[in-house]
Amino acid sequence: MPIRLFDTVSQSLRDLEPRVPGQVGMYVCGPTVQSSPHIGHLRSALTYDVWRRWLTHRGLRVTFVRNVTDIDDKILAVGGDVEWWALAARIEREFSDTASALGVLPPTVEPRATGHITDMVTLIERLMERGHAYATEDGTGDVYFSVASWPEYGILTRQSPDAVESDDSATERGKRDARDFALWKGRKDSEPVTASWPSPWGLGRPGWHIECSAMATRYLGSGFDIHGGGLDLRFPHHENELAQSRAAGDEFATTWLHNGLVTVGGQKMSKSVGNVILARDLLDQTDWVTARYFLISSHYRSTMDVNDGSLGEAAAAWDRIRGFARRTADLVTDHSAVPDAFAAALDDDLAVPTALAVLHDTVRAGNTALDAGDAVAAAARANDVKAMIDVLGLAVDEGANDATREALDMLVQRLVAERDRSRADKDWTTADRIRDDIAAAGITLFDGADTTRWSIDG
Ligand SMILES: [Zn+2]
Repeated sequence: MPIRLFDTVSQSLRDLEPRVPGQVGMYVCGPTVQSSPHIGHLRSALTYDVWRRWLTHRGLRVTFVRNVTDIDDKILAVGGDVEWWALAARIEREFSDTASALGVLPPTVEPRATGHITDMVTLIERLMERGHAYATEDGTGDVYFSVASWPEYGILTRQSPDAVESDDSATERGKRDARDFALWKGRKDSEPVTASWPSPWGLGRPGWHIECSAMATRYLGSGFDIHGGGLDLRFPHHENELAQSRAAGDEFATTWLHNGLVTVGGQKMSKSVGNVILARDLLDQTDWVTARYFLISSHYRSTMDVNDGSLGEAAAAWDRIRGFARRTADLVTDHSAVPDAFAAALDDDLAVPTALAVLHDTVRAGNTALDAGDAVAAAARANDVKAMIDVLGLAVDEGANDATREALDMLVQRLVAERDRSRADKDWTTADRIRDDIAAAGITLFDGADTTRWSIDG
């Protein structure tokens, strides 16, 4: 069965047909590093992390590019005592640390906008040569994309070019059309010299949208498979990325994915309402794997509402899985294959809620097998559960580190050998005493043909 993804441009599910068989190029818009990450940022990072893990599990070699927007109006607007570049570096570290804390795999490459100014200048020059961009004649050094020159403008958000609202970038300076957006912003006297770079139009800095177009194609080529980002980036950011890249002659992304936003108590998160949940607030409340489970458990395209009970519900659900996985850690042997129903769910536009339902069903079946003393069935379900939680990037701390586990295993195996000797000698009293001691320690034995496995009762 093919992997299907919901494409924003065609508003339909389409089969993944990699441009290069066996390989997938994926670009995801990363953070603008102006303030600490909140749970909306985490949800976006986790969405594409799970996509990437699933595609990789399906045998595809994924090149995953996620940028850092480290120069932008919003960063310069923060001001204060700290230099803009020091702020950007600090917030970037906070994003990386938080993403790793939640088990998000590091991107194949994580380009910074400030390191790719030459690529952006070259792309703008190509647009000018083709008649899709112009420098203003007022001496400001601004360069704009001409929306009127590109009839396809609006296809991502299904707007006719005539209906597109005006762009607010530097409206006061020499724009020919209110809809045109900035590709290059000439330096203003009020801005730090460190926030400007030389260009054919004088000192200045790139507009936000051109950054992603330039970085995506540098690493993934003129055409690539998947472009992802939050729903809030669809317009104007992604619409403009798409227009300028296509106008410059690049094929750009085959499929556009958008993840839904996070609301709190039914309201959009905003500083003015005071309902922003920062990543660190969430991680203060719970362990990372519960936070991860919580943020991936809704379908990635739906709006996820956080309310008083939602974290607790997710924690209880994850505890059921974790409890089973801990009890059966010693039964796990081969965990390379996930159940078919789980795979079918993730193949179908990454339906994580359906996949989690399969996971919970498997845990229930596993617990039933444990209660019935059916070691073979319990071990099979333990393998299934381990395979599924691995694919989702969840992890079970087994309640003890490897050294402790090894020490315990040595003692249990010694007792088992002694029990077996007593049985062979028909010394039933000793054999029963050992069995009772092991049970009193909360350990269940599963006798196999030539080996005995054990689990700690939860
Ligand atoms: Zn972007």
